[in-house]
Amino acid sequence: MKAWQKNVRRVKPYVAGEQPQQKDVVKLNTNENPYPPAPGVQKLSEQFRTDILKKYPDPDVKKLVYALADYHGLGHDQVFVGVGSDDVLSVAFLTFFAGKKPILFPDITYAFYPVWASLYGIPFETPGLDENFRIRGEDYYRPNGGIVLPNPNAPTAIYEDLSFVEELLKHNPESMVIIDEAYVDFAGPSALELLKSYDNLLITRTYSKSRAMAGMRIGYAMGCPEAIAAMNAVKASINSYTMSHIAIELGVEALKDEEYFESVCRKIVDVREEVKKRLAALGFTGPDSRANFVFVKHNSVAGEVIFQELKKRNIYVRYFDKPRINDYLRITIGTPEEMERLYQALEEILGKE
Ligand SMILES: *Cc1c(COP(=O)(O)O)cnc(C)c1O
Repeated sequence: MKAWQKNVRRVKPYVAGEQPQQKDVVKLNTNENPYPPAPGVQKLSEQFRTDILKKYPDPDVKKLVYALADYHGLGHDQVFVGVGSDDVLSVAFLTFFAGKKPILFPDITYAFYPVWASLYGIPFETPGLDENFRIRGEDYYRPNGGIVLPNPNAPTAIYEDLSFVEELLKHNPESMVIIDEAYVDFAGPSALELLKSYDNLLITRTYSKSRAMAGMRIGYAMGCPEAIAAMNAVKASINSYTMSHIAIELGVEALKDEEYFESVCRKIVDVREEVKKRLAALGFTGPDSRANFVFVKHNSVAGEVIFQELKKRNIYVRYFDKPRINDYLRITIGTPEEMERLYQALEEILGKE
């Protein structure tokens, strides 16, 4: 060990899904959208003059913040924007989880939560999902330093209705409750309407899934003005200029085409319902998905075997080598053509066993 290395921060980083670089891959491993962003986004990106790049972007990202606030019917002081919702969640952890009591999130959930908690020295506890992978609300009705969970949860894809979220808020007036709505556009009502009644609610959203802009890195949070001001103060203590000119402009543009947005979400949901039937016929079971992915296990062949066999055929899905879920695969909903290739490969793999 080199002498200076004793001063190095030890971290256990989040491991993101693979981004294979070869062509002809069916990529169903990171829940990206298989369709392009709204046509207006393409058009606007062709008009960019590099001249704008010589200036710093607006540190308050007003144009995008106001556009998102108007889109959701919120005040202009109720939205915070960041470089993907990972950035937004990271700032939220730093901002709201500075207490001494442990924060709470499920044992099976978005794998980035324990990474941020560890990095920032936030104590945490992880109540177990029940045997059907449902979150037990009662586990969160006790003293804590804050709560974070995705709805729908990831990777289980299970959506809990708003009465579940409201009970969490009611039982935790002294904690910030963060609802990560990365997949809500494929699921059901957002917790947005609860913002009127609860100031301990923070909702995070992303452009990466339903808006097909994972590569642009845009995420945002919605909350009461005091919560958003607290996040802005923390953000301004790290990096003032997080959102590029291009991300701001394209982020605003994407909101203008509601019809396209809804049609893409609907297409993905329709394909998802078909995927459920086809996978069930092949011997897979899993929770009823309300997201743009399914979480399934086969009745005889191990998840890891299927994962490796699919990879040999250039089909990438996600496998988690983690207790309780190490027989499951998380499969993103792609285009109907991509899913056909998946079924064919699965028939081949399962037929061989
Ligand atoms: C994808 C995802 C995110 C992060 O998305 P960004 O690309 O950083 O916006 C956050 N939470 C969950 C549950 C996700 O699945």
